[in-house]
Amino acid sequence: MIGVLAFHGDVIEHIRALGRVNSISVRTKEELKKCRALIIPGGESTTLYTLCEREGMCEDIKKVPAIFGTCAGAIMLAKKILHKAPGQKTLELMDITIDRNAYGRQTESFEKSITTVLGKLNAIFIRAPKIISVGKNVRVIAKDGGNILACEEKVGNQYFLAASFHPELTTTMFHEYFLRKVAV
Ligand code: GLN
Repeated sequence: MIGVLAFHGDVIEHIRALGRVNSISVRTKEELKKCRALIIPGGESTTLYTLCEREGMCEDIKKVPAIFGTCAGAIMLAKKILHKAPGQKTLELMDITIDRNAYGRQTESFEKSITTVLGKLNAIFIRAPKIISVGKNVRVIAKDGGNILACEEKVGNQYFLAASFHPELTTTMFHEYFLRKVAV
């Protein structure tokens, strides 16, 4: 079962992008227990973490074998964040440094055609973070100029995929890729 963390953000869009694969929206520890993989959608990383904490889910999320985070979800995965809100915490799972809101405000959101190792796609950036550096075991899978847009990391038996944009809005390419990784 693939779970989509469903406190807020593009929950339906992610579930649709997963196609016919069995998926559930996750708001509780019990729902999370059914999942061997989890998608953390965009939204607001501070709120997402606070709600996970309120449900007592953070430690359980950290043990999920595969996690795909988009936008705020990528912030949730990062070990280091710049411009974090006071006291902001993350799951600290991926060896990446991410700069919150680095592409500007909500009104400066934009769409751009990008090339990734998975193929070309239109990427939508909504108050997006910039992945500014990655550790040596992290593989970059999308870049635009000097900016890293998506990357992946295997840590022990766990797999993490992060995108600073919103693939769920324009393509199923990333979801299909994630599903292939989960099946391994
Ligand atoms: N700026 C948001 C944050 O810091 C992320 C925006 C998004 O997910 N679209 O969490």
